[in-house]
Amino acid sequence: MNFLFLFTVSSATIFLAALCFCIFFDQAVLIRRETIYRLPSAKKKIALTFDDGPSPVWTPMILDELKKCGIQATFFMTGYHVSLYPEVAQRVAREGHEIENHGYAHNVVLYYRMEEIEQEIRYTEHLIRQITGQTTRYFRPPKAWLGPRTKRKIKEMGYDVVLWSLNSKDWVTFDARHITRFIMRRVKSGDILLFHDSGGVFKSEGGDRAQTVATIPLLAKEMRNQGFEFVTINQLIEEALHA
Ligand SMILES: [Zn+2]
Repeated sequence: MNFLFLFTVSSATIFLAALCFCIFFDQAVLIRRETIYRLPSAKKKIALTFDDGPSPVWTPMILDELKKCGIQATFFMTGYHVSLYPEVAQRVAREGHEIENHGYAHNVVLYYRMEEIEQEIRYTEHLIRQITGQTTRYFRPPKAWLGPRTKRKIKEMGYDVVLWSLNSKDWVTFDARHITRFIMRRVKSGDILLFHDSGGVFKSEGGDRAQTVATIPLLAKEMRNQGFEFVTINQLIEEALHA
């Protein structure tokens, strides 16, 4: 009985500690070396990025808001979701947004063999090209875990790893005004902002992205008041190169 109680308390404590770590700390900062996460020379330009989609529910709502606000964004899609919801991926492409590579199954690739990581990226690249006509050049590792050897492999494949400099934490923040305030206090030129168009706290499918949807018009207004312009990842990189 005592053992069971101790086991339950320890498991709950470990789980809560891991959750707090994910909520209050962004482990992506640990793997930034040799990746693209911010381009400060792109003056007053920022890139909105949406991970884990496409979702048949949330992506269309996000696209509607982006269209109303006249924003071009970048979607890091999983191959699995592209294969499930091809018509949503096609709409993203048709409306002029950039589509990039988030792997196939949204697994942590840290312990993958090199041929497995190559398969994940190439198959997702193939699906995105077949379905949307877009070619992917940038890879974002699921859950932001990536080792130095895998980074080298991805580089050899002709990809750059793109992370983010500002994490909206939209997967655990349930108020669009709070997300907007959090971003406006921190945003700088060349920032890459992370949002999600699919998934919840524990999975990349489904979830409730209503607050992400509601953040777009609030953020667009505040950012433009401060003279910021929204661009895609490719445009941000181009802008920084020619600055
Ligand atoms: Zn993801």
